[in-house]
Amino acid sequence: CRCRFAKVLPVMRATELAHVLLGQSLKAGHWTVDATVGNGHDTLWLARRVGPSGRVFGFDVQAAALAVAAERVRGLEQATLIHAGHERMAECLPAEAKGRLAAVMFNLGYLPGAPKEIITHTETTLAALGQTVDWLAIGGCATVVSYPGHAGGAAEADAVQAFALALPARFAVSRHQRINSVGPAPQLIVIERVS
Ligand code: SAH
Repeated sequence: CRCRFAKVLPVMRATELAHVLLGQSLKAGHWTVDATVGNGHDTLWLARRVGPSGRVFGFDVQAAALAVAAERVRGLEQATLIHAGHERMAECLPAEAKGRLAAVMFNLGYLPGAPKEIITHTETTLAALGQTVDWLAIGGCATVVSYPGHAGGAAEADAVQAFALALPARFAVSRHQRINSVGPAPQLIVIERVS
């Protein structure tokens, strides 16, 4: 019984499902972005996936979070942490990254344990998503986990979905959300550039 749940639950968590989906296609040498570094768990995961020949560019507005993340990825030369909002992605990434990003991960909301005022906002999230879809490689994927449960979170999750739905057909868009939870569950939107 424990075994069965151990297999099922990680896939039902939006953040874990993002790893499962990206893990299918991410290879050594790929270029990637962690748009919301926080404590650096996804940055480390991406860095291990792409290896020393790949790149991970991580963005966060919170210096304290970046310091924790820097410790986590210490010694991994492929990881570059950038103290800037993800809405400045196009300005901060090297020009060679354009059309070359295999994965861009967003984990929105606030960082548990950090000040709750430091939160992602719909306007800057949408600006970053606009740049993300411009910079994805063919076959590249963006994953966006939103949290409708906190104040402003539902509007942000809806805006992310509306943005994704309005994309042209060269992007395949899918959505995952547990529908029998108590209260609104995290939503995962996946945007894949098909052509
Ligand atoms: N709620 C998630 C964690 C989200 S962490 C969970 O439960 O796992 C979100 C991170 O986004 C925070 O570290 C925060 O500092 C960061 N952030 C907020 N606004 C940002 C922006 N404009 N650009 C980049 N990162 C931002």
